[in-house]
Amino acid sequence: MTKGGDDGTVPIPEPLRPYLDAAIKLSPSKWVFPAADGKQRAADTNLKAVLRRALGRAGIVDGYEHRCRKPGCGHVELATEDANRRCPKYDRALWIRPLPRKGIVFHSLRHTTATLLARAKVHPSVAQKILRHANIETTLAIYTHLDGIEDMRAAVAKLDFGVIRVRNQDLTRLLAVRPLLPALPLRSR
Ligand SMILES: [Zn+2]
Repeated sequence: MTKGGDDGTVPIPEPLRPYLDAAIKLSPSKWVFPAADGKQRAADTNLKAVLRRALGRAGIVDGYEHRCRKPGCGHVELATEDANRRCPKYDRALWIRPLPRKGIVFHSLRHTTATLLARAKVHPSVAQKILRHANIETTLAIYTHLDGIEDMRAAVAKLDFGVIRVRNQDLTRLLAVRPLLPALPLRSR
């Protein structure tokens, strides 16, 4: 996808090729990602919704909602897995709906690309072209920001905490709040 819908050559990383080849082969039309009827998607397609569904199918979720569809029941449970569950009141299978991970939007993909390019030390002028930034300042701002984060990471890596003992229940609690933390790179490579 090009920003602003202009056409131009978009470089594709080699590892993506088999996926795109498969998508082209499966497509019933000349479009790589057509609408269900094989036609071009409408200009007013809700791409946000398309991305949310794709995230749900890919398992990039905060969890799953299990809901009873029996009229008047209203039983709902939230779970981390999508294994089948039954309504405790009516013993019916609950309907499962993925809850796509919050905070992931199309723009995140651009941001990830920018971050990976900076990390790979790709020259900013090349990154600018790939990201189609009109102004190199935009690219450089991302590079500078990332350098700052890498510097901080290197700095805190020098801190000596001695031996850290984490009790299992503390770790479980920590992992439970993990999805609520801001989507910042928390781990170094
Ligand atoms: Zn029910």
